Formats: sequence, structure tokens, C-alpha cells
Amino acid sequence: MYNRILSQFEPEQIKINEPLKKHTTFKIGGPADIMLFPSNINDLQKAINICVEDNLPYFIMGQGSNLLVRDGGYRGIIIKIGSNLKKFVVQDTKIYAEAGVRLSELARAAAAHSLTGFEFAEGIPGSLGGAVVMNAGAYDSEMKNVLESVQALNTRGQIDTFKVEELDMSYRKSIFQENDLIIVSAILQLKRGEKTLIQTTMRDFARRRREKQPLDYPSAGSVFRRPEGIYVGPIIEKIGLKGCAIGDAQVSEKHAGFIINKGNATASDVLKLIKFIQEKALQTYGIELKPELAIVGED
Ligand SMILES: Cc1cc2nc3c(=O)[nH]c(=O)nc-3n(C[C@H](O)[C@H](O)[C@H](O)COP(=O)(O)OP(=O)(O)OC[C@H]3O[C@@H](n4cnc5c(N)ncnc54)[C@H](O)[C@@H]3O)c2cc1C
Repeated sequence: MYNRILSQFEPEQIKINEPLKKHTTFKIGGPADIMLFPSNINDLQKAINICVEDNLPYFIMGQGSNLLVRDGGYRGIIIKIGSNLKKFVVQDTKIYAEAGVRLSELARAAAAHSLTGFEFAEGIPGSLGGAVVMNAGAYDSEMKNVLESVQALNTRGQIDTFKVEELDMSYRKSIFQENDLIIVSAILQLKRGEKTLIQTTMRDFARRRREKQPLDYPSAGSVFRRPEGIYVGPIIEKIGLKGCAIGDAQVSEKHAGFIINKGNATASDVLKLIKFIQEKALQTYGIELKPELAIVGED
């Protein structure tokens, strides 16, 4: 079933039975039948054409920082964009970037060119593509505020351009969560600013993260979406679940909105803990918590 895809790519672009725990920030996840690392956008187009024509299941991964892969792994092809599609250029007040570039690298490049508006992205460990899909944000800003347009590949192999207004972006939401489009690149529109001030702000954000977030442990960031007007961490803390653990999956003692992997947590541990928190939040406060994480693979 995988013969054609195996024959069309170089051996170093493919891994067979690759443990996905090696590719997620949670350090959790069973093996993918095939993991493919496209070197450029043409490679990505070729891979999608083959998957569509041969009816092969596939899943796009950026940096795997908002992902929980189940313990049985993935029967199909995981296409990791966050490894190679990393070209970008800063021109005047715009940044033209491929989807695999890390947000922190773009934030630093913006600062180096005295461009303001992207400071919030320092410390979000995702790729540009993943950040667009999630409308990632922090410190009162989000991707929506800095995007000019996005280029995305469809299952017919064509690349279309979308203006930010067409992406229906709101809190951790975009149209890309509901369609098959694959983000290949984006244009950021920033403003001229003062370099020292930008760098100071970024250092301050990084310090606040180190103080508040359990960065010493593997995690996938905030587990739950924030219900309107409610901070999830304090709610979980009030219910008394700070430090609560199932196996090696634990509600962080430092920030109750995070679940951390204390060493050998399985996806099953995390999913049980998520369910337990959801039940308690509903019973105690009538609050329905929905996971922010993308959950993929089989048990
Ligand atoms: C310590 C820590 C702190 C974090 N802090 C924040 C924060 O402050 N704010 C915040 O918003 N998030 C935060 N996150 C979560 C995460 O970093 C973001 O959601 C990030 O945008 C995910 O990007 P990614 O490349 O890792 O995506 P992945 O986890 O690889 O994928 C996420 C989803 O996007 C899809 N996807 C990825 N790339 C593409 C593409 N090119 N085209 C189409 N679909 C794609 C995947 O299929 C999946 O559904 C944090 C995570 C951690 C571990």
C-alpha cells in the first residue's frame, strides 16, 4: 500500500514505524506507519497527490506542540512540515515565510529588523503553519493581528491564497480546523518599532512564561480551550486537582491548565486525566471544558 510513496522519495525523507513520541513536545505517541519529511513545497504537493490518488490516510504535523498522539500510533502517513519548510525573508515591514518555520525564530527575526507586533510569539513552540491553524496567541495578541495572507494547498494539488479576513479567525480558531487545506506559507504584516523596546518586551514575556509555566517537563501547553470569560487553570486549581496524576500524567503543580509528562506518561493516562478533569469541572461548576489539543491516532 505504501510502495508508491516509498519509491518517490529519498530514503532519508522517510521513516518507517517511527515513534511519534520523538516528534511531539509531550513526548507521547505510538508509531506512525510512515513518517515523511518533505524538503520543499513541491515535495509536499507530490506527497499529497499520491496520498489522494492511492487513498492513503495522512496527517499534517508542524512542530507537534499542540498534539496528543494515541498509544497505538497512526495507520497512515504523518507528513511533518516543521522539519524542512523553513525559508523566510524579511522585506520592509513584511515577513514572507514557509509554514515550517518556528514562531520563535520569526519573532527573533522581526525584532532584529526592528519590527513590532510579533513579540507575543516568542515562547510559543509551534510552527507558523500550526500557529495559523490554531490562531495561536499570548499576552493579548494572536496570529490574526499580524497575518496579511496565507497560501494553502488543496487536495487537487493547487495552491490558493487567502486574505486574513477570509480565515474566520477567533480565539484559537480558524477555517483550517474544518477543511483539508495545508498551509504552505504566509505573509506577516508588522510595524516599525524600536529594537530595544521590542527585545525587552520579548525577554519579559519569556520570563513570565518561565515563572508561570512548567517548562521543565514535556507538555502540549494549555490542555483546554478557555470558555468565554473564564481562566481554566484557576478553576482546575479550585476543584483541588493541582498535582492530581494518573500514571505519569499530572496536572502541573505550577500551572493547573497544563498536563505534564513526568517521564513515561501514555496517551491513555492523559486522556483519562482529561476526562476526570472534565467531569469534575462539570459537576462542581457546571463548566464544560473542551480540549484545545489535536488528538490523533488509535488506542
Ligand atoms: C510549553 C508550551 C507553551 C505553549 N504556549 C502557547 C501559547 O502561549 N499560545 C498558544 O496559542 N499556544 C501555545 N502552545 C500550543 C502550541 O504551541 C500552538 O498551538 C502551536 O501553534 C501549534 O503549532 P505546531 O506547529 O506545533 O502544530 P502541531 O501541534 O504540529 O499541529 C496542530 C494542528 O495544526 C495542524 N497543522 C499543523 N501545521 C499545519 C499546516 N502547515 N497546514 C495545515 N494544518 C497544520 C495539525 O494537523 C494539527 O491539527 C504551547 C505549547 C507548549 C508545549
